[in-house]
Amino acid sequence: MNEQESGPFRSNPKEINSRQGHLFIISAPSGGGKTTLSKVVLNRFNNILYSVSYTTRSPRNGEQDGVDYYFIQKKDFEKRIETGHWAEWAEVHGNYYGTSAEFLDKGLASGRDMLLDIDVQGTIQILGNYPDSVTIFIMPPSLETLRKRLEMRGTESRTTIKRRLLTAEKEMAQKGLYRHVIVNDQLSVSIEKLISIIEKYHYKEKMIS
Ligand code: ADP
Ligand code: 5GP
Repeated sequence: MNEQESGPFRSNPKEINSRQGHLFIISAPSGGGKTTLSKVVLNRFNNILYSVSYTTRSPRNGEQDGVDYYFIQKKDFEKRIETGHWAEWAEVHGNYYGTSAEFLDKGLASGRDMLLDIDVQGTIQILGNYPDSVTIFIMPPSLETLRKRLEMRGTESRTTIKRRLLTAEKEMAQKGLYRHVIVNDQLSVSIEKLISIIEKYHYKEKMIS
């Protein structure tokens, strides 16, 4: 496993403190479209830094360690809870997921905007420490559409899809916690809306308080 701590920051130490980075958080129920939309954002704004999460779930076909997630063992994850490694962590659909505190802090201190793709529980924890995070919730047009998209994606079993749909209802009920909500019906329209939200903050200096 090639961990991300310090990697992206080593090449440009002079950047430190000249600008405070914005923290963007994207959440959606599983199948809602956050991976698709996050990739568009990262391609469009190539200086936004993506926080690769850690998880104890198994990789899906095509997922790469260190790119999509850091895939680690449950024991390792729990040890890192004790050592304060996580900026936030949560159990989602029976697996652990977490964000490295060091990676997040270094990224923001170096002036880079950062993008987190995390669930509602994680968002609440991050807002505790970074209350001015720009939170964006991606809503599916309906639960039925969500089910179809999960089936079409073909990465989960029927049982897993059922479980994810149950969690989806609870997550969607909490969309009011987010500053922006995008209903992901037509993909091109969602992309346009998301880019215009990101642009609004990305090109604006953030004052260091
Ligand atoms: P998440 O990361 O939130 O679990 P994904 O980005 O993997 O969701 O999207 C789930 C599936 O739905 C993928 O197969 C993706 O291509 C598809 N999808 C995403 N947004 C749309 C959309 N607006 N219209 C149709 N299909 C979509
Ligand atoms: P998936 O297994 O489909 O990739 O992700 C399942 C859920 O876990 C999604 O809601 C996703 O946003 C969330 N998730 C991914 N990474 C993290 C993380 O680091 N922290 C938290 N709290 N949730 C995460």
